Amino acid sequence: MPELPEVETVRRGLNATTLNQTILKTIVLLDRTIAYPEANLFPNAIAGCQFKTWHRRGKYLIGELANEAGHLGVHLRMTGQLLWTKPDAPLEKHARVRFLMGDQELRYVDQRTFGKIWWVPPGQEPPEIMTGLQSLGPEPFSDAFSETYFQTWMQSRKRPIKNALLDQSLVAGIGNIYADESLFLSNINPLTHCYQLNPKQLNPLRSHIIEVLQTSIDASGTTLRDYRTVDGTNGNYGAQAWIYGREGKACRVCDTEIQRIKLAGRSAHFCPKCQPQH
Ligand SMILES: [Zn+2]
Repeated sequence: MPELPEVETVRRGLNATTLNQTILKTIVLLDRTIAYPEANLFPNAIAGCQFKTWHRRGKYLIGELANEAGHLGVHLRMTGQLLWTKPDAPLEKHARVRFLMGDQELRYVDQRTFGKIWWVPPGQEPPEIMTGLQSLGPEPFSDAFSETYFQTWMQSRKRPIKNALLDQSLVAGIGNIYADESLFLSNINPLTHCYQLNPKQLNPLRSHIIEVLQTSIDASGTTLRDYRTVDGTNGNYGAQAWIYGREGKACRVCDTEIQRIKLAGRSAHFCPKCQPQH
């Protein structure tokens, strides 16, 4: 699933390609991809619009339309991709929506079909239509994601820290990869309960979250099976990952075998020596 660095990489790609070009025609190939308005009303709603700039909030992409024509929201979920391509390029098997812009096209491809696209009408704020935005916690790079905020949030929570980091209401944008990576860098076992962590552990964890996300953005994200940048290339973080996807391999710090366990239906990778049980 694309996480903050992958979505941020897509956002930068969209800003480098799609701006100031007119959406001439929109073809919806799978109705349920369009969350708002109804799929048959969607093409007319954005006909003639141009993208002014693309924003990101958590894992949501928000395209601001020029001339106050509203916003276009996208959540890639598990396998969504936005590709900048030529209209005559062979159609991907899982293409769901096509935005035709003259001699270029923005194409939404999604194998598992969990991704969503919204049009936010003029005069309405994106959270009014994209309601998932309402419950998002602070952005990891913002001042609101402070040491005090992080410590206070953890104090009363009894669930494993790994699960907490995946909770988008704690901090927006982290998923499985960067939760595992930041816990490793902080020598914290993923099963440790939130309230058991003291400020000497939480402050470094908060710093490592920010650091690992930035490192991955600099590498254009991690290449997942279904993640691509808008021009179809791969991200490079995976090759330098500390533990994510390295089950059975030697820890880069201590040579101990990396383990993988199931936690709340997701996998957690950790080094038993670097990240001892609390
Ligand atoms: Zn180790």
